[in-house]
Amino acid sequence: MAYDKIKNGISAAIMLLKNNPEQVQSLLNVQSMALDMQAEIMTLRLENEQLKSTKDREAKVVRHRYKGFITFSDDKHEIEYCVVCWEDGRKMISMVPFSDAVGSPPRRIKCSSCNNRSEK
Ligand SMILES: [Zn+2]
Repeated sequence: MAYDKIKNGISAAIMLLKNNPEQVQSLLNVQSMALDMQAEIMTLRLENEQLKSTKDREAKVVRHRYKGFITFSDDKHEIEYCVVCWEDGRKMISMVPFSDAVGSPPRRIKCSSCNNRSEK
């Protein structure tokens, strides 16, 4: 990794300049900045991966007219996800079956997060 090469270069320079505390301190400051930059690069890479993943998901959304859920075109199980939660920050909350009355079979589905309800 680039940071390791920078760190090794700075360590070598520190060895050469060990009798000059001001220059050693300068190099240590540069090393600290390089470490901060490395951390920021890692954070940005992670964010970029998440954005790519979300964009990939968005391209596969299947909307169903008059239904409160979405599915994804690459999902062979066609799991229903809450459209409200999807629109609110691209959260993927699967819908669960429920019945309107005790003892009756579950004919509808609802979101366990926002309680959005829909016909299947
Ligand atoms: Zn929801």
